Amino acid sequence: MPPSTPTTEKISGLGALRDLLDGDVVTRADAEWDDARLAWNRAADQRPAAVVYAESVADVITVVDYARAGGLRVTTQGTGHFASTLDSLADTILLKTTRMRGLEIDLEARIARVEAGVLWEDVILAAAEHGLAALAGSSGGVGVVGYTLGGGLGWLARRYGLAANSVVAVELVTADGRRVRADRDKEPDLFWAVRGGGGSFGVVTAIEFALYPVPEVYAGILFFPFERAAELLGAWREWVDGAPDEVTSVGRLLQFPPLPQVPEPVRGKSFVVVEAAFSGSEEDGAALLQPLRELGPIMDTFATIPVEELRFLHMDPPGPVPGAGDGIALADLTPEAIAVLVALAGPGSGSPLLSVELRHLGGAVAEDSSEHGAVGALDAGFALYAVGTAVDEEMKVAVEAHAAKVNAALAPWAAERDHFNFANRPGDAESFYTADTYRGLQWIKAAYDPDELFRASHPIRPATRA
Ligand SMILES: Cc1cc2nc3c(=O)[nH]c(=O)nc-3n(C[C@H](O)[C@H](O)[C@H](O)COP(=O)(O)OP(=O)(O)OC[C@H]3O[C@@H](n4cnc5c(N)ncnc54)[C@H](O)[C@@H]3O)c2cc1C
Repeated sequence: MPPSTPTTEKISGLGALRDLLDGDVVTRADAEWDDARLAWNRAADQRPAAVVYAESVADVITVVDYARAGGLRVTTQGTGHFASTLDSLADTILLKTTRMRGLEIDLEARIARVEAGVLWEDVILAAAEHGLAALAGSSGGVGVVGYTLGGGLGWLARRYGLAANSVVAVELVTADGRRVRADRDKEPDLFWAVRGGGGSFGVVTAIEFALYPVPEVYAGILFFPFERAAELLGAWREWVDGAPDEVTSVGRLLQFPPLPQVPEPVRGKSFVVVEAAFSGSEEDGAALLQPLRELGPIMDTFATIPVEELRFLHMDPPGPVPGAGDGIALADLTPEAIAVLVALAGPGSGSPLLSVELRHLGGAVAEDSSEHGAVGALDAGFALYAVGTAVDEEMKVAVEAHAAKVNAALAPWAAERDHFNFANRPGDAESFYTADTYRGLQWIKAAYDPDELFRASHPIRPATRA
């Protein structure tokens, strides 16, 4: 295993890597250092041995070989949305894939192939030109690869499942510097492991996945006064029981900050909202929504929209921000659980959390299949994610402590396993899988990266023979 503290020779030797690459290397001796080590999540203070901007698969191989030979490690980052989950990056090259942005769509097969640095909005827009939709999450700025390796829960999830289970092939550079293509027939173990096991197995250089014929959706938000939080979350909870798989919805407590970039109608105000996307006709969607509309929302944005507009529905930040938060998967959302949540994050609670969302799972998310990857199905009723702004250390600590308090208070309703992508704390991946699945991932890690060259979000530790 590589040593865990950086040495002067290793860091100064990194300059030599420059001559071997098409892309760029930035070390702490360079003026661009502080820019280069930034993550999308500005609250993450990344201090790697060096940052490499890879331009090509050849660059990735060079970095992997260089790190292995020099006793360094490699961590791969598309955007840095998940940077807060990484441990110390000392002795680690931060390999940024931002410049690898190739994207192709095979219209006949309805398959997209994207390189490692492609963002969801790139795919969403390209696919929508052909009436197709990808299983993107709520934000167009999230990276396709990081999101998909962790499972990937989006607006079409209850109809088409987790994004990882729609992947048909993954191209990687492994720890021994090999370029491999993993699919159902070639390297099937690796193919299984990367679909939900995260970035522990190699540097993904490209990924191929299915697109679906969804040109438009009936979607929007119902805003209610914050004071009605308990009542509305309760009503939404009952409503989801009758919702078909074509509906994915979110119940959410929102406290908008009084910032100029927040749209005027909601700036500085708090709400309880229901967000939903229905991939069916407007008539059927409106009929489905009627019981919630009868509760008298103060704002109602539901309309038939082109599917590419879904990336704005959740009102995620359009660019990098400093944030902190965490999530927990819930087996169910009982009236008692709602009361506990509202006491901690609702009106009068003094909660520093900007948003506490509950995503309704079930449908295709809960259906397992032998064709699926390691993520399998999510056996939980709801996925909770709590987040707040963290402009300084004090705020970060306060938000993290409050999110942890919410998780602890809801522990009596916790599902057996959390969703990889919503667990925003550092830590191994063990708690996301059944014992058998985790053991399988550990053996595949041992086969492909026994010395832990790759440092990933929620790492899988290699199995060792007893
Ligand atoms: C605003 C926001 C909205 C979100 N919405 C959703 C959502 O709707 N649904 C959902 O499921 N999740 C969501 N997430 C969580 C998100 O999916 C994870 O944070 C995911 O890891 C982001 O992927 P990334 O590539 O953008 O981030 P990064 O931080 O760049 O990557 C995350 C991790 O993925 C691995 N990785 C990335 N690229 C590679 C590669 N090329 N090869 C190998 N490993 C790699 C690494 O381990 C890396 O640490 C959201 C997060 C944020 C901040």
